[in-house]
Amino acid sequence: MSTRPTILPEVRDFLAREHGHFIGGRAVAAPANPRIAVVDPADGNAIASIAAGGEAEVDAAVAAARAAFRGAWLEVSPAGRAAVLHRLADLLQAHREPLAQLETLQSGKLIALSRAFEIDQACAFLRHYASWATRIHGETIAPSLPSFRGERYSAFTRREPVGVVAGIVPWNFATLIAIWKLGSALATGCTIVLKPSEFTPLTLLRIAELALEAGVPAGALNVVTGAGAVGEALVRHPDVAKISFTGSVPTGTAVGRLAIESGLKRTTLELGGKNSVGFLPDVPVQRIVAGVMEAGFVHQGQVCAAGERFFVPRARLDDVLTHLSERLGGLRIGDPLDEATEFGPLANQAHRDKVASLLARAPQDGSTVVHGGGVLPGPGCFLEPALVRASRPDAALLGEETFGPVATFLPYDDEEELLALMNGTPFGLAASVWTNDLDRAMRLIPRIEAGTVWVNMHTLLDPAVPFGGIKRSGIGREFGGAFIDAYTELKSVMIRHQT
Ligand code: NDP
Repeated sequence: MSTRPTILPEVRDFLAREHGHFIGGRAVAAPANPRIAVVDPADGNAIASIAAGGEAEVDAAVAAARAAFRGAWLEVSPAGRAAVLHRLADLLQAHREPLAQLETLQSGKLIALSRAFEIDQACAFLRHYASWATRIHGETIAPSLPSFRGERYSAFTRREPVGVVAGIVPWNFATLIAIWKLGSALATGCTIVLKPSEFTPLTLLRIAELALEAGVPAGALNVVTGAGAVGEALVRHPDVAKISFTGSVPTGTAVGRLAIESGLKRTTLELGGKNSVGFLPDVPVQRIVAGVMEAGFVHQGQVCAAGERFFVPRARLDDVLTHLSERLGGLRIGDPLDEATEFGPLANQAHRDKVASLLARAPQDGSTVVHGGGVLPGPGCFLEPALVRASRPDAALLGEETFGPVATFLPYDDEEELLALMNGTPFGLAASVWTNDLDRAMRLIPRIEAGTVWVNMHTLLDPAVPFGGIKRSGIGREFGGAFIDAYTELKSVMIRHQT
């Protein structure tokens, strides 16, 4: 029997508000905007509503961001920017529990995951970006131009903020991914307009208020809520200099095309994937089971880097599927706010139905759903975690991203076949190999086509380690120091002078 803990008064009060956009440092109620209901996927109830913005709100937000870029935020020194980001991290930590509850209510994420992955990780990332603010620099260069009358030449480069950034955020990690974008922008001296997913806009609206309290000047951080049209208007806007988009491959591809057509905007695309996981023959069954749980089922599989293609030595596959079925069958499925729950709902009805229909089509190419996949009755968006035994390497469920709790398996016989299977996808966001054989792991790493390769782990990200996709999984890198190139322009300065 699930027991829903008390919703904190801060959360109740926030949900009860008439939410507007956050533009120029204040909530802008937009009475003319249609409302979009925000639904708790655990029970199907509307918990709040947001304004569906349009071109007028995008124009206002970009104008506010541009004014702050040329004014108040420009006045803040790099050390000042770092201090603001640290203060925002402090405030997130101080409001950890209400923010975590809000995140769970809007997304169906287990409350422990909301605390650890959305809030604590967000703080770690903010502090990481803060640590870079004072370390963004160019270099000095000695030109080799000939000197005819004794003149000399010196040159240096400057890293200058690109300007107004549009940050477009998906629903799966609505808090953390927004923090990646606003942290990168503010650390480098850019200003930003964020567009959250219509399904999960609430934490970001609250964080915008906390950012103001932390000292982010009015206009430096803006949020326009609404559907995809808001994102499109931002991408098209002439005063937006850079797009940072995280989302699906089809939308990301359209965004990339529009960004080029509408003024060659700088663009970072963090897109989806179909990530491969390869277990080498030395890995015992119980470790494979633990590895699949880690790679495939965190946040009900709704993680861009989650494993969806699992390759297991032929001799082990039956055993692995038997043990995994037992493990998944014993999971406590229910209310994500309940501390005892191990597996929550999918993020929304349409997504749950999409995953269910992909599973229903599995038999068409001879693949078998060996466990789960059932839609659970009731108002919430629940779907049992599923295991699929694929019929062949080109089976649909080994090709198409489900972005859900579906682990698809294929046996392999030797290392070359494993490599061909792991790389046999047009996507390349992440992959993992599992083995205690260091020589084999080191041999495989350079041959695996993915932006991130994990060994004996999966899914975990660190602010210091760059992240991004190759092949169709995206363009550009986030985190580490790599974000600096994406949020700044390199200006070259040459000076003629006398010695
Ligand atoms: P979508 O691509 O559907 O949406 C992403 C964001 O883009 C949302 O805010 C969406 O708004 C907005 N959007 C929709 N249409 C347009 C448009 N024409 N122009 C501009 N913006 C638009 O992705 P999901 O939200 O469904 O997220 C799931 C996908 O994100 C998965 O494919 C997953 O792999 C990927 N992802 C990738 C990550 C990475 O780092 N590589 C991390 C996390 C997720 P709205 O929701 O309101 O329609």
